[in-house]
Amino acid sequence: MRKNKPNKRENNKIFKKSNLKIIPLGGLLEIGKNITVIEYEDDIVIVDCGLGFPEDDMLGVDLVIPDITYLEKNKDKIRGLVITHGHEDHIGGIPYLLKQINVPIYATKLTVGLISNKLEEHNLLRSTKMKEVRPGQTITLGSMKVEFIKITHSIPDACALAIHTPVGTIVHTGDFKIDYTPIDGEVIDLGRLAAIGNKGVLALMSDSTNAERKGYTMSESTVGEVLDKLFVNCTKRIVVATFSSNVHRVQQIVNSAVKYNRKVAICGRSMCNMIETARKLGYIDVPDNVFIDIDSIKSYPDDRLVIITTGSQGEPMSALTRMASGEHKKVQITPNDLIIISANPIPGNEKYISKVIDDLMAIGAEVIYNALQDIHVSGHACQEEQKLMLTLVKPKYFIPVHGEYRQLIAHAETAKTLGISSENIFLTENGKVLELNENEAKFTGHVTSGKVLVDGLGVGDVGNIVLRDRKNLSRDGIINVTRWTNNSSNYIRLKKWKNYCWTRCNKPWICVCKRIWKLNGRYKETTKRRIIKMWRKTHNRLGNTKTSN
Ligand SMILES: [Zn+2]
Ligand SMILES: [Zn+2]
Repeated sequence: MRKNKPNKRENNKIFKKSNLKIIPLGGLLEIGKNITVIEYEDDIVIVDCGLGFPEDDMLGVDLVIPDITYLEKNKDKIRGLVITHGHEDHIGGIPYLLKQINVPIYATKLTVGLISNKLEEHNLLRSTKMKEVRPGQTITLGSMKVEFIKITHSIPDACALAIHTPVGTIVHTGDFKIDYTPIDGEVIDLGRLAAIGNKGVLALMSDSTNAERKGYTMSESTVGEVLDKLFVNCTKRIVVATFSSNVHRVQQIVNSAVKYNRKVAICGRSMCNMIETARKLGYIDVPDNVFIDIDSIKSYPDDRLVIITTGSQGEPMSALTRMASGEHKKVQITPNDLIIISANPIPGNEKYISKVIDDLMAIGAEVIYNALQDIHVSGHACQEEQKLMLTLVKPKYFIPVHGEYRQLIAHAETAKTLGISSENIFLTENGKVLELNENEAKFTGHVTSGKVLVDGLGVGDVGNIVLRDRKNLSRDGIINVTRWTNNSSNYIRLKKWKNYCWTRCNKPWICVCKRIWKLNGRYKETTKRRIIKMWRKTHNRLGNTKTSN
């Protein structure tokens, strides 16, 4: 009898539907590198593949991308990569994923345009299958159907996804806000979200970025009104810094420029690329002859000019930062400039942007930023909009995503106030496997996840040890010992310790000298004296630099 029991259970399993797995590989407990795996039996659909930016202690690292070991192991199951919108934290990792796994990509028009630019840079455009999807369209990927639903965000053509699976529908909001008066008139499809909600939704994964903020996010169109007020009667040259991806913001700056008879010049590589792509695809509407080349700004009086630039985050190499420090080759800031910073600092960037504002003010320029005037609105939903999403979609299970831990907690609290019980709310993390079906949902394990650091062309070759050495070098400096010798064998041996790094150590010259003594006893004393002298000199100089700071 005992033996039969497990067999019975196994037989039941054959007729039972499999569980659906939701596995985030990035974007949880962090802002950036969003990527989620939706897996049902032998089919995997990937939602987004973004990048993150390095933290302050990741010296020399350019980008952070998600660890996709799990996808490489299961690459035969992957049916497609669906993209919610064209922000870097959702598309920036795509070229690196494609270098490991060739997967078809599905996205809306502007998003496809932005991904194409990236793939062209990485020489991947020809080998990649990309399909443009219209909002409202549904595509079939294995046993799942993915429906693109129009939502509003700080970039045009953003979509939420309804993923219809054999065990139920998952709604993934992507990044969203509820803007009733968007610049392009393309309002969020609340009707479709409500219809899907009425049919029954198994789980909702929703944007938590602004979960701590009460109330509503203001409409993008309110920024245009503030811009107009700043432009009217202004006799100064106007420089506006904003996110290059905020196409609607750029459109509004251009609208104000046209209204008040100013020409527009563009500064910064990402801004130029973005505006070019958006114009080509019809997302920015500009009369002829409004844009002028940055090289010809000297031919126009200040009150006839607007410069749209990158650098709203005070990024060290950005155009605005170089203008503020007087290092920009084409734009010199003067007291006859009105600088508008049409963005909020992303957490962590506050000190950079404060420095830029201070430098601009020291030159005598007038600077307007969000603390002074409402010159920026967020692209993400606040609590009341999150409540509307939860109310329309009416999910059985709720999974707050796209946020740090405190934001996920705040979003979970909001869901509880709407009557979703805490056992149906799942605070997940990168790599954690959530399995669900019509009756239950539970965490069942972990898969490999993490950060892969990109340094120039190198992907994943910078790890903790290299970062530790870089940190030590940045603090202590470096001694570079070069010695000429006629003896060829010594030369080869010297080459061998080329990569040796002298990091912090009480008497660093001893390490150096020991190695040189081994090479050739004859140089022992003189070399030792020289190196000690050199080290003391360098060390004193580094010490002096530190105190002068
Ligand atoms: Zn995002
Ligand atoms: Zn976004």
